[in-house]
Formats: sequence, structure tokens, C-alpha cells
Amino acid sequence: MIVETKIPSTYPFSLAPPPFAYDALEPYIDAATMRIHHDQHHQAYIKNLNAALKKYPEWHDLSVEELLRRCNELPVTVRQTVHEQGGGHLHHWFFWKVLKPGAVGSRPTGALAQAIGRDFGSFEAFKAKFVETGAKHFASGWVFLVVQPADGRLEVLSRHDHDNLLLEKKTILLLNDLWEHAYYLRYRSGRVDYLNAFWNVVDWEYVGRRLESALAGTP
Ligand code: MN
Repeated sequence: MIVETKIPSTYPFSLAPPPFAYDALEPYIDAATMRIHHDQHHQAYIKNLNAALKKYPEWHDLSVEELLRRCNELPVTVRQTVHEQGGGHLHHWFFWKVLKPGAVGSRPTGALAQAIGRDFGSFEAFKAKFVETGAKHFASGWVFLVVQPADGRLEVLSRHDHDNLLLEKKTILLLNDLWEHAYYLRYRSGRVDYLNAFWNVVDWEYVGRRLESALAGTP
């Protein structure tokens, strides 16, 4: 089965509808947060990214991943904007992919389950590490489960704002949004509660397919 692991588009970038109803992840992620997060925050990243690139048609054939990888070659006036807004588009595109309604109690299987056991000790230990890393991250950013395709090792880490991992040769398998807009309406300052609730909405089948793609060299 083909797994969509890359954003399938170039300039002008556009916002795909969410892959499920706004209230489908209730009560873990509430409908109001979903609506604002997708329709306003993600949309704004795309709008700002397109605005930055508008005057530079020579860059219009590149995917957002290519733009981020080659950010330092972009006109200096738009580098920072593309880094921030392009990173925002990339990470939110992935974020909607890893979420799934009706995932309560689901867990990794197959090669992903084995790799998690090997590198973290157990699924429970992995979840604790992911939550702890997200909880300790100061201010805005993302917490990631990544694989290093060179040796297949899994790693949990966080990055600030929309800093991406493309130049670090790490492939994102799973990510959670640590910006307050992702959780403040429902959880207020309870970031840990939000991080723990996240396990009820993770599409482990998609995460597992991402690992298979990364190890096959096709992420
Ligand atoms: Mn966000």
C-alpha cells in the first residue's frame, strides 16, 4: 500500500481539508481547537509561504521539503520566512496525517513495535520519554519520534518553533505540536495532560508505514 510521505505539491501551496471531521478527535482534541488550528494557523503558514515566494518564480517548482533543504540558497530577504512558514506547513501536513479518530487503545505492530522495544525498552517507556521530552521543551516547538535511515535507530527529540530535521538526516515518524494553539483551549496550561491524551488519537498504522518507507529509502 502506498503511504503518502511527502507533501505532493509545489507553489502555490494549498491547504487540504482535514482528513476527518473537526469533532472526530473529541474529547482528546476538541473541535474548536481543530477548526482554528487547521483553518487558521495552518492556512496562515501556507498563505505566508506563498506570499514570500511570489516574486521568485525560479523557486516555484520546488516542494516545500526542497525549499527548506535549500533555504540558504534562497534570496536573503525571504530565507527566514520560508524557514518558519514552510516548516509550519510541513509539520502541520504531517500532524494531520498521524492523527486518527477511534484509535483509543491502538499500539504499534510489526517492525515498528520491534524497533520501539529495541531502542526504548518498551512501548510504555517510549511513551513516557515522548511525553517527558514534550513537557520539558520550553515554549513553542514540536516533539518528534524520528528514525535515522542509515542505521534504523529510533530517537525522541524536540525542536523549537518550526525548525525542521531535514538537514539532520532524520525522518519524522510521529510528531506532536507543542505550540499553545494546539492545546490551550481545552487543556489550558496542562501540557502534560494534552501529551498523554495524544495517545488516544495516533494512527500507528501510518507511523509504521512511514518507518517501512524510511528504511526502504523512499521517504
Ligand atoms: Mn500548530
